[in-house]
Amino acid sequence: YRPLNFIGFVYRELRQGLTDIEEMFKLLDQAAEIQDKPDARSLVVTGPVIRFDNVSFHYDPDRPILKNVSFEVPAGKTVAIVGPTGAGKSTISRLLYRFYDVTGGSISIDGQDLRDVTQESLRSAIGMVPQDTVLFNDTIGYNIEYGRPGASTEDVRAAAAMAQVGPFIETLPKGYDTPVGERGLKLSGGEKQRVAIARTILKAPSILILDEATSALDTKTERDIQSALDVVSQNRTSVVIAHRLSTVVNADEILVLRDGAIAERGNHTALLQQDGLYAQMWNRQREVSEAEEQLRRTADDPEGFVRRGTPAAE
Ligand code: ATP
Repeated sequence: YRPLNFIGFVYRELRQGLTDIEEMFKLLDQAAEIQDKPDARSLVVTGPVIRFDNVSFHYDPDRPILKNVSFEVPAGKTVAIVGPTGAGKSTISRLLYRFYDVTGGSISIDGQDLRDVTQESLRSAIGMVPQDTVLFNDTIGYNIEYGRPGASTEDVRAAAAMAQVGPFIETLPKGYDTPVGERGLKLSGGEKQRVAIARTILKAPSILILDEATSALDTKTERDIQSALDVVSQNRTSVVIAHRLSTVVNADEILVLRDGAIAERGNHTALLQQDGLYAQMWNRQREVSEAEEQLRRTADDPEGFVRRGTPAAE
């Protein structure tokens, strides 16, 4: 009976294995949507200056997402993109990384159209901290080193320290050898984001895209990381996508995107003076953060709250 049972087990395992292999080959046979041209050259970075020229884009033909968007990020400068949710902000970063090709207009870096250069050379020039970080089911050290495979341990540690995640890693019993779990599920959102920032710091790219890079962090950590990111983005051409406007006040230019088109543009002061959508968003966020600050103070000092504010104390 037992050998027969064993044959059943082996048979089942073999069938499962064959099915998995079939699925894997199906996946490998999928043609990538974005292909390099046969005569594609490597991107030559001199500035780098990024130019969006009348860019239009849709995922589905019956729903345009970006409509004639034009802007330029001069070498070493920072352009921030803000706007209501669903306006198309992350789509701009995906187009720049060439996950998709534009459906109208063009994007170029130092005068070279993204469609004419190899994807590998393009992506090696860009460091991206995305909205949802993908971590590999390996150690924290491996996940940071992925930014520049072969980097020395000191460099990995320096990048982790700069991204404010070093002290946390050192408190873990296994330190940099701690496994992060499937897709990084053993780390909190903020820790994952900091690992992604460390990875990008290690890569030291000439173009930086930060897509809501500090959205999962509390205000204090956000402030600390923001200063680290400011250092990283200095002299790098950067595109920063943000919900929290406090993180983009220092940007050289801020684009306010609404329904896939640029509704307002200018620096922080100029936009506040325009008293339009940006000023509205700024005032709303200031009220919310003041309320949060008040709540935090109350939580830190509940007795003070009773002393100050309740009839019982009077
Ligand atoms: P948020 O601030 O919420 O991140 P966003 O401005 O970054 O929003 P995008 O992610 O650029 O918005 O998405 C713009 C629009 O495109 C959204 O309405 C979204 O539903 C749609 N969209 C995004 N990705 C796809 C996709 N792969 N296929 C079809 N539609 C998509």
